[in-house]
Amino acid sequence: MADQKKHATDSQSPATESQRDETGFQRPGAEKDIEIDIFEGVRQAKGNPVEPVRLQAADSFCFSCHKSISCWNRCCHEADVTLTPADILMLTKKLGIGPAEFLAQYTVPALWEKSDMPVAKLRTDGESGAGACVFLAGDEGCGVYSARPATCRYYPMGLASIKMMGAEHKEDFNFLVKESHCKGHEEEKSQTVAQFRAEQGVEALDEINRGWIDIMMKMVSWRSVGGPNAKAVSPQAKKMFFMVSTDVDAFRRFVFETRFLDTYVIDPDVVEILKTDDIALLQLGFDWLKNVLFNEQTINMREQVLQGAIAKARTEMGAT
Ligand code: SF4
Ligand code: SF4
Repeated sequence: MADQKKHATDSQSPATESQRDETGFQRPGAEKDIEIDIFEGVRQAKGNPVEPVRLQAADSFCFSCHKSISCWNRCCHEADVTLTPADILMLTKKLGIGPAEFLAQYTVPALWEKSDMPVAKLRTDGESGAGACVFLAGDEGCGVYSARPATCRYYPMGLASIKMMGAEHKEDFNFLVKESHCKGHEEEKSQTVAQFRAEQGVEALDEINRGWIDIMMKMVSWRSVGGPNAKAVSPQAKKMFFMVSTDVDAFRRFVFETRFLDTYVIDPDVVEILKTDDIALLQLGFDWLKNVLFNEQTINMREQVLQGAIAKARTEMGAT
């Protein structure tokens, strides 16, 4: 809708395994049988009320955002927007600039506290970051509306991911967030979750970001035991994570201008695709990070490289 505002705010932050008192979210069903991660769509300011209701696609809620609402643009101030990889792809395309220039002009580096991983956040005015989002275009609203970040599209919803004990896959669902400044909740317009998500165009972004969200959620879980396999993530691995997450040009150089393709088995047809397809390159990046960080078999090393690594490890362990 033309007058539907972008929304605002903050970081989509993956949170911990389900802890109701921390998130305010009521776990549905058989609590003992589930693992849950919450990917919030709201800032972490204290007192942010999370409506403790799990919303299915067909569930309805009342909300509307439009230019004549009294709080218009309120949510684009003090906005704490963490950018996902898909956000950066979209925004750089819209602005016609490369990721390096985009990062320098419009973002600030930050640490996503819950996962302890580096991210890029949208720059805001003012010394303490309490001003307007760098993309706010006065009364007109969001200056990059068609390419606004996932967090802005999701608001006022949060996204959670749930995994039943023993289940192979996670199931996503949404929940509502009600902040006192947001008057959109007092509007009469009713819509289902599915309609809202379709209107905001979040499905395609979630699809691109899936691997990145998986990594973030896993890091949140691992953090309580010190890191993957109880080992802290090295500064170098964090640097690589930031590169893949924020700068697809730099990652492409890393793939094509280092020994990456001599190290990993990648189908020649896929290699051709990776030369120009940013989304395919991102998926490779997420698979590679899962392998490096969690030792998942998402990407295969070439046999001779693997044998060399095993021999080196054996030597270092004093084996013959
Ligand atoms: S990107 Fe747009 S919608 Fe999001 S906070 Fe900035 S101005 Fe608001
Ligand atoms: S209704 Fe909510 S989302 Fe819309 S401008 Fe107001 S605070 Fe932002």
